[in-house]
Amino acid sequence: MSALIDYTQPDINGKFGKYGGKFVPETLITPLKELEETYFQLINDKSFNEELDRLNKEYSGRPTPLTFADGLTKYYNKAKIYLKREDLCHTGAHKINNALGQILLAKKLGKKRIIAETGAGQHGVATATVCAKFGLKCFVYMGEVDIERQSLNVFRMKLLGAEVIPVSSGSRTLKDATNEAIRDWVTNISDTHYIIGSVVGPHPYPMLVRNFQSIIGLEAKEQIQKAEGRFPDYIVACVGGGSNAIGIFYPFINSGVKLIGVEAAGLGITTNKHCATLTLGREGIFQGMKTYLLQNDEGQVSEVHSISAGLDYPGVGPEHSFLKDEIIADFYSVTDDEAIKATELLSRKEGIIPALESAHAIAYLEYLMPKTSNDEIVIVNVSGRGDKDLNTIKNSLGY
Ligand SMILES: *Cc1c(COP(=O)(O)O)cnc(C)c1O
Repeated sequence: MSALIDYTQPDINGKFGKYGGKFVPETLITPLKELEETYFQLINDKSFNEELDRLNKEYSGRPTPLTFADGLTKYYNKAKIYLKREDLCHTGAHKINNALGQILLAKKLGKKRIIAETGAGQHGVATATVCAKFGLKCFVYMGEVDIERQSLNVFRMKLLGAEVIPVSSGSRTLKDATNEAIRDWVTNISDTHYIIGSVVGPHPYPMLVRNFQSIIGLEAKEQIQKAEGRFPDYIVACVGGGSNAIGIFYPFINSGVKLIGVEAAGLGITTNKHCATLTLGREGIFQGMKTYLLQNDEGQVSEVHSISAGLDYPGVGPEHSFLKDEIIADFYSVTDDEAIKATELLSRKEGIIPALESAHAIAYLEYLMPKTSNDEIVIVNVSGRGDKDLNTIKNSLGY
């Protein structure tokens, strides 16, 4: 059965069921419409697709491998585990897949100036990278807390020629950086394209970011067919905004594969220091979309926490809210400590040091593997590499 036959989301208004949509100031309606129209023009344009394919291949290093994790498989002695290696993409994470697609869009729209928000810095680095490659001016909004804990990525962006703008409002992390980027966009709409880094924000962003990221799942589908002659039983991915997860899930929706998203439980979901949005949030409107949201009784967005800056976000992509309600995917959470343990486990068993975000997906294997059998197959999406997190990992493990 082809996955996409009965799954056509979002609808023409950008709604995934009751989620998604376009909750934005009047001034953004026309530019969002223009973005959507240009996007649909481009994906039907042969030369655009050829250029994106070529960049993915020659610049980014795609396809990324699907690695059989024999060490980890032996360790659990249950289902076979494969790793989709987005950590091997140029710049070290899946973010470049989206940044490349959107920079081509920006060029087509005739924009001269690019803005972006970043948490861990990975999306900032990916955006600064494509701006350098295409000669566009780049401004990256980043919370002061993240600037401190991801100083190496801040330097990378600067070296690539981008300007990093510190954000001192709110919790000084990703949500606040996103607010500032939206403010900039509203002010400078005529010459500026906003490269959103995940499947969040107003329509058409959740749709177009998903489509650029779905190359992960399309490749995995072909690779697992080649390796095993069939689809996997489970796919596991971490969920911050949800772009790496939907990227690998999307081509497998309705194909019988169990799709599992893993959120950050921080210090634990019984504390108020976590960002398990789908586990504990409820419907709200945030940054242009209707989606699950961590909020207090008055509807104020909660302060959130994760050891991994890339998951430290109180919202989630609207499509994941839909997938949860429709039980098309299941969502769980693991704590900071579990993610740190999983980082060490993957490093020791596979010689792969994952990003702390990706380590959340690995950590969930502790719960999943005992329920699997030897004739089953699990694919885990390794969304990025751990270089940016080495200081945090070192301090947590007390080396
Ligand atoms: C940004 C990031 C994430 C979280 O973003 P999603 O949109 O949920 O994928 C996960 N892993 C890595 C390595 C990242 O850089």
